[in-house]
Amino acid sequence: MQENLIVPFVDLKSQYLSLKKEIDSAVLSVMENATFIGGQPVASFENNFASANGAKHCIGVGNGTDALYIILKSLGISAGDEVITVANSWISTSETISQCGAKPVFIDIEPEYYTIDVNRIEEKITSKTKAIIPVHLYGQMAEIDKISTLCKKHNLFLIEDCAQSHLAEYKGIKAGSTGIASSFSFYPGKNLGAYGDGGAVITNDDSLATKMRMFANHGALEKHQHQIEGINSRLDTIQAAILNVKLPHLQKWNKQRLKNALLYNQLLGDISQIKTPKIRSESMHIFHLYVIRAERRNDLMNYLMEKGIQTQIHYPTILPLLTSYNYLNLKAEDFPIAAAYQNSILSLPMFPELTEEQINFVSESIKAFYK
Ligand SMILES: *Cc1c(COP(=O)(O)O)cnc(C)c1O
Repeated sequence: MQENLIVPFVDLKSQYLSLKKEIDSAVLSVMENATFIGGQPVASFENNFASANGAKHCIGVGNGTDALYIILKSLGISAGDEVITVANSWISTSETISQCGAKPVFIDIEPEYYTIDVNRIEEKITSKTKAIIPVHLYGQMAEIDKISTLCKKHNLFLIEDCAQSHLAEYKGIKAGSTGIASSFSFYPGKNLGAYGDGGAVITNDDSLATKMRMFANHGALEKHQHQIEGINSRLDTIQAAILNVKLPHLQKWNKQRLKNALLYNQLLGDISQIKTPKIRSESMHIFHLYVIRAERRNDLMNYLMEKGIQTQIHYPTILPLLTSYNYLNLKAEDFPIAAAYQNSILSLPMFPELTEEQINFVSESIKAFYK
């Protein structure tokens, strides 16, 4: 964290200090037990995270990107297949599709809530389409009920990217509970963050769970019994011990984020040059990110930085327009909403420990900029 920051984008240290005793002792006990791979902390986190999500199986893996790759490979996604996903996300969502040999097919976002535009999915379904990966972006769920209906109608796998949506809900449905399998990230800045990389997959499907556990462990369920070639992707034991301490606090932290977001919404609501985020009715938005759309976005960002307020952009270039996808020959006109929004979206500081004073300061600074 920079010294001159009055409001950092995230503050991982204050959360650590609030649980320091428990976290320190959990980490130390891993070292004292000298079981550094697997062991009790991983097994108990898998149980705890499965039950927090109402899922039958949880498999801890190395990170949220591996989680997606493990799901796709275990479902048999391969060369010649197409997988539909959303234009505005982190690259993990699409690069793992390509890593399986399949082709990512991008869909624009809908203008109000920034998640995949369900009305544009069906026109992109072909005989090669095998799966749809919606992303519950910024902590708000996509219209999972409608996407699920589409998947059933066209016999497609539904895979939920829940990296930004731990325990989010929509119409009483938990993030990650509708798809055949769902991926989570415990990257430090996520709503449930480890102190390094970490991830998990959840599923209710017994045979898929076995396949995923096997693929993540060199294709073996028992040592030296390699039934297929796999990868080495584990949830680190120290990270699992830390996550076990943090998980019981997740619901409370999510609510604090929501409370902070509602205060921002109230304070920023009447500035005509910005649009505050909207919350779907019947939903629990967990505000992984608080994203506004702002006129003169880059100038505002610089102005706030000068005031000691750190902001970010999620994401400055939508996936289809990244250099990595030049070969797909996609144009901004193919994604009119997402391509327009990439130039106006701005993520304001958001974390559970953010104070009212800090939110006031950010809001007053934004008002001052537009005066
Ligand atoms: C963070 C993130 C991932 C990847 O997680 P890692 O743990 O960093 O690999 C995947 N998808 C989305 C939408 C993310 O935000």
